[in-house]
Amino acid sequence: TYVVTDNCIMCKYTDCVEVCPVDCFYEGENTLAIHPDECIDCGVCEPECPADAIRPDTEPDMEAWVEFNRKYAEQW
Ligand code: SF4
Repeated sequence: TYVVTDNCIMCKYTDCVEVCPVDCFYEGENTLAIHPDECIDCGVCEPECPADAIRPDTEPDMEAWVEFNRKYAEQW
């Protein structure tokens, strides 16, 4: 899965949401979240993010971000 990280906070761009083929972005008041069970790992959102906030969970120490994204995606 890809995950939204802290650079997303207060970023006003939603270019990533528009390109996602499976609509797995969820919008909160100040940030976005990707539902990790819905993301198909296509990677098209990553280069669209001007804040460099979207990272693959294959990078080190991403477990907490996966859980953050899951928690908020399910709430929103
Ligand atoms: Fe959506 Fe693809 Fe980004 Fe996953 S990697 S959030 S499926 S655009």
